[in-house]
Amino acid sequence: MSDTSTLHIVGGGMAGSEAAWQAAEAGVRVVIHEMRPEVATFAHKTGDLAEMVCSNSFRSDDSEQNAVGLLHWEMRHANGLIMDMADAHALPAGGALAVDRDAFSAAVTARLRAHPNIRVEDGEITALPDSGHWIIATGPLTSQGLGQAIAAETGAEALAFFDAIAPIVYADSIDMDTVWAQSRYDKGETEEQQKAYLNCPMTKADYEAFIDALMAAEKTEFHEGETAGYFDGCLPIEVMAERGRETLRHGPMKPVGLTNAHRPEDKPYAVVQLRRDNALGTLYNIVGFQTKMKYGAQTEVFKSIPGLENASFARLGGIHRNTFLNSPTLLDDRMRLRTRPHIRFAGQITGVEGYVESSAMGLLAGRMAAAEIMGRDLPPPPPETAMGALIHHITGGAEAKTFQPMNVNFGLFPPLEGVRGGRRNRKDRYKGYTDRAKLLWADWLSAAEAGLTEA
Ligand SMILES: Cc1cc2nc3c(=O)[nH]c(=O)nc-3n(C[C@H](O)[C@H](O)[C@H](O)COP(=O)(O)OP(=O)(O)OC[C@H]3O[C@@H](n4cnc5c(N)ncnc54)[C@H](O)[C@@H]3O)c2cc1C
Repeated sequence: MSDTSTLHIVGGGMAGSEAAWQAAEAGVRVVIHEMRPEVATFAHKTGDLAEMVCSNSFRSDDSEQNAVGLLHWEMRHANGLIMDMADAHALPAGGALAVDRDAFSAAVTARLRAHPNIRVEDGEITALPDSGHWIIATGPLTSQGLGQAIAAETGAEALAFFDAIAPIVYADSIDMDTVWAQSRYDKGETEEQQKAYLNCPMTKADYEAFIDALMAAEKTEFHEGETAGYFDGCLPIEVMAERGRETLRHGPMKPVGLTNAHRPEDKPYAVVQLRRDNALGTLYNIVGFQTKMKYGAQTEVFKSIPGLENASFARLGGIHRNTFLNSPTLLDDRMRLRTRPHIRFAGQITGVEGYVESSAMGLLAGRMAAAEIMGRDLPPPPPETAMGALIHHITGGAEAKTFQPMNVNFGLFPPLEGVRGGRRNRKDRYKGYTDRAKLLWADWLSAAEAGLTEA
């Protein structure tokens, strides 16, 4: 297993399958280690590779106005197996890319098994390898044995087994005439730290209406077999509200240490705080607002918060069984574990979320590992591409302290120069982002491919 020209991939899901394909197509020998069907998870039903565990959708296929659609486009242009098989087994679904899930996974499995450079070895891997080239792509339901081995290497705090996602809002959709920037008790050395939070003030009537809406909202249940993993530090807001109508006012919505900069004489009854979520300052998360409310209900309830009436959400909240690393502290920009650089991570375990994002990170990890085996270095794509925006976010751009899984969205992209923010310009702005990304992705791909052929 330690020979230096073979790439071992643990996990043949969305990320592992794409990584294997990319490396094998580059001429590298690949072994995929997959524990199913020998060892099951509560969500997978088959022994096929790239099984879709829940919805059968790859989401929007619009590569001009949607960041997921752009990710599709970038993968299609990079000989992506997951996209190729999704296109081959697409079902009618309007602007979305939905697929026949069984035909899709069967086709991915057949293509991988038939590839002369790929071998699939059944069985669970339970330890971190000491040598060789490895990609770990074991996903949100990484087996217990391997999870423990990873936690022993990274420290328990750096590996989570449940996510607790608070909604994330685009900065330019927040009403700055209502909210103000201030850290509680003006804490911090610099002005930037003292104004690190945005505050949404609530009157007593606002607060009471908010609590009523929260309690009445429809919630999602945990999947069968997925046990609730609430820790007191990250209870869903609706569970806190159920413990008492005043609980939130003494928790994440407490108004103390804050003065409304627009109306200093008005003492808010409660305050909702937003905290910067990325280095670019384009995204803010609603502090402490992890929730199991259904998506439609979340939008309605959160838009009732003063200052967020016109909010656009880069992602909504959720709590799921989800094994993921604190990638900003653990991985380098080539997705290698800093403490053991012969091991890369890819897919949902790196803190991206979704079939598409996971396959995308598999594509990059597979190419980077192949380049390394062939004596080359493949730098990450520029942050203006969808692939680049995601990898930069997880390996550095995201706040490490509050790191939670992320979907691809335009808030991760460096802003376009000379294009104004705001709702009205959104269409032009998104087109600007996607045009810029496509050019840069094509450049990066040709440079990457020239590098490999020279080797
Ligand atoms: C219940 C649930 C519902 C979801 N619903 C959706 C959805 O509707 N849409 C969406 O986009 N995303 C959904 N996701 C997220 C989805 O799982 C990921 O987006 C995607 O499958 C992640 O790809 P991955 O390759 O990282 O992990 P996976 O696709 O899960 O692949 C990981 C593979 O590793 C294998 N494995 C695990 N441990 C070991 C080990 N120790 N040794 C060998 N093999 C191992 C597993 O069997 C699996 O085949 C859901 C996740 C869960 C848990």
